Amino acid sequence: MTSQRARDRLVERLKAQGLSDPRVLEVIGRVPRHLFVDEALASRAYEDTALPIGLGQTISQPYVVALMTAALLRDRVPAKVLEIGTGSGYQAAVLAQLVPEVHTVERIDELLRQARKRFRQLGYKNIRSKHDDGNIGWREHAPFDALIVTAARESLDPDLLSQIAVGGIAVAPLGPAGQQTLIRMVRGTDGWSRENLGAVSFVPLVRGVL
Ligand code: SAH
Repeated sequence: MTSQRARDRLVERLKAQGLSDPRVLEVIGRVPRHLFVDEALASRAYEDTALPIGLGQTISQPYVVALMTAALLRDRVPAKVLEIGTGSGYQAAVLAQLVPEVHTVERIDELLRQARKRFRQLGYKNIRSKHDDGNIGWREHAPFDALIVTAARESLDPDLLSQIAVGGIAVAPLGPAGQQTLIRMVRGTDGWSRENLGAVSFVPLVRGVL
C-alpha cells in the first residue's frame, strides 16, 4: 500500500482528473508521500485526499498539490520559489524535484522540525526552511520568481507580494472559510493579473508563530 504501484495508481487517477503536466506527474509518482504522514496513516497516503498531520493541520490533497505545482511551472520554471506553510514538507519536496531552489516558511515549530527531518532523510538539499510567520515572507532571500501559499486567507499582505519579482507568479487559496478559490497571479510592471483555478479547501493562514 506504500509501494511504487500505489504511487502509479495515484498518478493515473490524477491524469483521469485532467492533470496533464508530465513533469509534475512524474514527480508525484516518485516522492514517497507515505513518509510525510504519521505511520498510522501511511496506508492511506496514496488516496487522493488531505490527511491530518497533527496540531490541527493537514497535508494537502495530491490533486491540489499537482494543480498548484503545474500552475507555478506553466510559463517557465521559476529558479527560486517561496512556499508559505511547510506543513508536512510534501509540497516543498515535490517542488524541490522541479525547481533549483525552494524556500519554505512554517509557523508551527513542531511541524517544521518533522519536515526538516524528512528533507534530511530523503536527501533533498535544495530546500531552505525557517520558523516564522509566513505573512512577512523571507526578505533576506527576496526577490523570488514564484510564491506558493498553502494556507488560505482573504488576501495576501502587500509586503509578502512585494518579495516576488516582476514577471514572477503567485499561487494561493484566497477567500473566506468555505469559499476559497485557488488564484494564480502574475506580477506585471504595473500590478498583478489574476486567474481563477477553481474552488479549494485549505486550513487558514493565521498570524504569529507557535
Ligand atoms: N504544504 C503543506 C500543507 C500544510 S497545511 C504540505 O504539503 O503538507 C498549511 C500549513 O500552513 C500548516 O502547517 C500551518 O501551520 C501553516 N501556516 C498557517 N499560517 C501560517 C503562517 N502565517 N506562516 C507560516 N505557515 C503558516
